[in-house]
Amino acid sequence: MLNRLFDGSLMPHGHCLLWREDLLFLHLSGDALTFISYASIPVALIYMVRKRQDLHINGFFILFATFIAFCGISHAIGILNIWYGYYFIEGLAKFLTGIVSILTAIMFWRLMPTIMAIPSSKLLAQRNEELLIMQRQLREANKELELHSSKLRGQANIDSLTGVNNRRLILKLLTQDIERSARHQRDLSILMIDLDHFKIINDKYGHQMGDRVLSIAARTIVQACRESDLVGRYGGEEFLVILPETNKAAAFELAERIRKQVEQQPREIDILVSCSIGVGYLHKDQDSTALIKEADDALLQAKEMGRNRVV
Ligand code: GH3
Ligand code: MG
Ligand code: MG
Repeated sequence: MLNRLFDGSLMPHGHCLLWREDLLFLHLSGDALTFISYASIPVALIYMVRKRQDLHINGFFILFATFIAFCGISHAIGILNIWYGYYFIEGLAKFLTGIVSILTAIMFWRLMPTIMAIPSSKLLAQRNEELLIMQRQLREANKELELHSSKLRGQANIDSLTGVNNRRLILKLLTQDIERSARHQRDLSILMIDLDHFKIINDKYGHQMGDRVLSIAARTIVQACRESDLVGRYGGEEFLVILPETNKAAAFELAERIRKQVEQQPREIDILVSCSIGVGYLHKDQDSTALIKEADDALLQAKEMGRNRVV
């Protein structure tokens, strides 16, 4: 068989072509061009398989490269056989090409569902667009959510009736302000404001009117204060005002102004309202409890002295 394979003594193919130059040219150039391309395609396929290990159809590409390579070899032997007679080798090459091409065809059909499932670039672009839209919507929803939660956080710190800081926040702010004032050796005063005989207002005019008086009083206090002052509802009809960078004299002045304005406030409700105010001034090494006690004691004194006054 081997002897036959390499027996090139059979009649060269050139005789069939009558050694005509035009025929020779056509066969030779056709086979040569096909061989060149069939030799380069497997190289490209192998390069691709090595670079794209993630593709799960690499086995198929290797088989496909082998099939193309065999086709190329058949064409190359075709050229050789124009002058020689190696028809056994050519036949064997064609036979092997046939087997590999059948295997390739079978594998190709079996792979068809996988290949069909690979999304097209148009589909991917569309999906990408959809994802971008979803991302934009999510971002907007997130923004809204943040807004809501910051509103909720704000509401958790605000007294719903009067709109000023609630007890929890005003006490927290007081602790912070005391620390800051102590660190920078700055003045700090507080006012403890309590509405006088508020129980009587409630009893006489009803709880709803009492609520109205309370919220008007809060508004009056806020309006009388500076921007940097902090107003909070300390208890039922008691307000705590923090006055940063304010000395005793200035705190008294402001307290007096608040007292007067509260007294004049109820033009719109025609009820006599007044308040008593205790002033506290931050001393060295005092904490919030001690400072509040000082203002509370002063307030108590103001009540004992007949109310509607600043102590
Ligand atoms: P004093 O001058 O000694 O402070 O007398 P007062 O009546 O103001 O003080 P007291 O502590 O005896 O009564 C406070 C009243 O404030 C009793 C309570 O029902 C009322 N109060 C507390 N919170 C509210 C509120 O949110 N709305 C209303 N309408 N009344 C409230
Ligand atoms: Mg009171
Ligand atoms: Mg009270």
